Amino acid sequence: MRRLHTGVDPAVPKPRRGATRAAARVPDARAPRREPPSAGGRVTTATRRARTLVVVGHGMTGHRLVDGVRKRDTLGQWRVVVLAEERHPAYDRVGLSSYLAGKSRADLTLAGPEHLADPRLTLRLGCPAVAVDRARRSVRTADGDTVRYDALVLATGSRPFVPPVPGRDLDGCFVYRTLDDLDLIRGAARPGRSAVVVGGGLLGLEAAEALRLLGMRPHVVEAAPHLMPAQLDAGAAEILRRHADGLGMTPHCGTSLASVDARPDGRVGSVTLTDGTVLRARLVVFAAGIRPRDELAATLGLPLGERGGLLVDAHCRTSDERVWAVGECAAVNGRCHGLLAPGNRMADLVAERLTGGTPPPFDDTETGTTLKLLGVRVATFGSGRPAAGERVVEVAFTEGTDRYAKVFLHPDSGVLLGGILAGGTGSRATLAPLVGRPAPSDLEQLLLPEIPSDPSDPSDPSDPSGRSRPSSGR
Ligand SMILES: Cc1cc2nc3c(=O)[nH]c(=O)nc-3n(C[C@H](O)[C@H](O)[C@H](O)COP(=O)(O)OP(=O)(O)OC[C@H]3O[C@@H](n4cnc5c(N)ncnc54)[C@H](O)[C@@H]3O)c2cc1C
Repeated sequence: MRRLHTGVDPAVPKPRRGATRAAARVPDARAPRREPPSAGGRVTTATRRARTLVVVGHGMTGHRLVDGVRKRDTLGQWRVVVLAEERHPAYDRVGLSSYLAGKSRADLTLAGPEHLADPRLTLRLGCPAVAVDRARRSVRTADGDTVRYDALVLATGSRPFVPPVPGRDLDGCFVYRTLDDLDLIRGAARPGRSAVVVGGGLLGLEAAEALRLLGMRPHVVEAAPHLMPAQLDAGAAEILRRHADGLGMTPHCGTSLASVDARPDGRVGSVTLTDGTVLRARLVVFAAGIRPRDELAATLGLPLGERGGLLVDAHCRTSDERVWAVGECAAVNGRCHGLLAPGNRMADLVAERLTGGTPPPFDDTETGTTLKLLGVRVATFGSGRPAAGERVVEVAFTEGTDRYAKVFLHPDSGVLLGGILAGGTGSRATLAPLVGRPAPSDLEQLLLPEIPSDPSDPSDPSDPSGRSRPSSGR
């Protein structure tokens, strides 16, 4: 699709023989100026010979990238300026729901004191980037400042998708992405009242669980015939649905939101579904998918992937050799990834590349995940669900009402292609290495072991605390 950047790399500083931190104080014509202070931000003096890496977005992968550069850049070749839209340093978005279960903002913060105190780092909170001038190699911020870069990494994540239904802007409608969103939801929650979550995927179930913890009675509306359609088949989703029922949630699958309807005071009072069902609702949370935040691409003049996201090659680089994208805003070879593990792999490889390493390209065949939702561990490994029309043999194994496993085998060779696990099954860590080999004779035993694998097993990265966890690349 695009050229791979080999040979001399203008964005990557050349190693300076014998360079030390002290040597880095020698004046340099391209020495960066001090950044002016901004709301909530912090200003530090950077090493003077260093080049400037500007990172847009201090979310999970932006932080990972900055941390990776800090740790690898032992010669102080980079000063890093982070432009962050949110007013809080990077936090564990995967663990967002635990904020409503009692964790504080500080508990969720990813950047430790040594990270924030690093003199090479300037973190400008509440300071979104609004435009990039590639010819001048500068980024303009919302407060009118301009920051020059030698390398630019976009880590702007995604925005929640809100379907274009009537009433979606009513007072009482929310999205579920940031700590600020959760503060608003907490403020509007009324224990004992009904709420509606639009979307029965990972985010929707997280949101429903959060509303339940706030004392509300959540309905979950999912257009697909079953919950978590992106990851699970009907059998595995049924285990989740049973748990959801047991927790007092009410899933409505195979129907969509037609409208959000107001009470006389103008606030949300109910929703109407496309099958005609009317659900009373004090509040509505949209968790029906995400869209990459690629709006800076317009000023960058760089192409997007077919479904949005900044188009990058397998090294996470755009067609401009100084501009990179990582995380959910990046369309790697045209494809966006909505989970943390692939985003972290992107951040690691760019950090390594910027500090002179030659990491292997991004591998997007590693798609398996382990998640823990509503207290149920679900996992996919290998190819996960086959694409429509793909010829595979499916073999399902169930036991009782809370253990389900399905594997996909090559129809001719019997080679294990992948699988889906739900409940107390064997771990993904045990099964994933078997992919690509003939299915072993003890497959059933591996899938449904006598004693279900211990969810706290360190070889299985699902999180026993009950919140979702990605499985690899962390
Ligand atoms: C509730 C919830 C649960 C999740 N659970 C899981 C899970 O179990 N497993 C899993 O793998 N993934 C999960 N995810 C997804 C995971 O959180 C994301 O994949 C990950 O956060 C993506 O990181 P990112 O850096 O690309 O984006 P983000 O973490 O969203 O960070 C992007 C940052 O960029 C900022 N930004 C955007 N535009 C600008 C701009 N112009 N200027 C400056 N800053 C800007 C944004 O404000 C944001 O702070 C969950 C997400 C949510 C919301």
